[in-house]
Amino acid sequence: MMQIALIAHDRKKDEMVNFAIAYEHVLKPHKLYATGTTGTRIMENTSLQVHRFMSGPLGGDQQIGALVAQNEMDLIIFLRDPLMAQPHEPDIIALLRLCDVQGIPVATNVATAELLVKSLERGDFAWRELVHKYKPGIEE
Ligand code: PGA
Repeated sequence: MMQIALIAHDRKKDEMVNFAIAYEHVLKPHKLYATGTTGTRIMENTSLQVHRFMSGPLGGDQQIGALVAQNEMDLIIFLRDPLMAQPHEPDIIALLRLCDVQGIPVATNVATAELLVKSLERGDFAWRELVHKYKPGIEE
């Protein structure tokens, strides 16, 4: 079971809902996390159970980032709005940076998201099970 985070900016939320509907069967066995409103929209439109964090502008990206920093997230689907300034731009950059620190697969548009989810379906994420198994504890 993988830990997957789903985030969509406001003008990308419909795309995220359609994505979640299309790949519900692939996402279903996994532990899903989302920022507040994205999580609500997904749960309203699918049978998926999603652990909701704060809304993005209120710190949700940072909460997901905390799990990425601990190498506990396996896949991030982050449908960003490239045409609208966001008040929490620093948090967005910080989350993507942490994904690069840990080498976590991250999709920022739906085309890449589809490739990653198809890869997940094929079992290509099995290496992440080893990360979970052998991940060192948090250092003092
Ligand atoms: P939201 O947060 O899912 O609560 O809207 C995402 C964002 O817009 O950053």
